[in-house]
Amino acid sequence: MKGYWVGLLFAAQLSGQPVLPVVNVCVERSCLDALTLRMSRRVVDHIYRRIGVDIEWRCAHSSLERQIDIRFVKSAGKGRSANALAFTAPFEGRTVWILASRLDQLPEANREQVIGYLMAHEMGHLLQGVARHSARGIMKASWTAHDFYLMGKETLNFEPEDIDMIHRGLRQRMIAQVPRETQP
Ligand SMILES: [Zn+2]
Repeated sequence: MKGYWVGLLFAAQLSGQPVLPVVNVCVERSCLDALTLRMSRRVVDHIYRRIGVDIEWRCAHSSLERQIDIRFVKSAGKGRSANALAFTAPFEGRTVWILASRLDQLPEANREQVIGYLMAHEMGHLLQGVARHSARGIMKASWTAHDFYLMGKETLNFEPEDIDMIHRGLRQRMIAQVPRETQP
């Protein structure tokens, strides 16, 4: 089977057009209604498109194609912060857990945007591949009322170092995958 990244690379070369890196994301067991989920995903699309990354929302069967799983769970389990809305394990590299019961805490006015930003933040951890936060922007450890205001206007962004790290992480994923795919 041809590797997804390899196929993408060939397509870009053949067409002569610049092709954005694509991240395949699967949402599983969403507790959101269809409209809220669709609007939240659109926010994620816009956030990542602004930094030159395309998000493909599809639950690929191949574990090679399937890069990020977003799962909604009822409880956080032991050891999780009482304030956390979602969590991930950057070194595991694949899964975002969103705490469904805590989404009720979100401001009603811009709930879809905040859920989109929540997904984008946790996806950022996985794509960067390290456990870190930034002083500002989407990758802040905790968001303030002003951040929520910016989310409502969809003007909260990744900081330059976060963008660099995401692209570096994507290149590393691509390099890690090519040898596996080209072995006879
Ligand atoms: Zn975080």
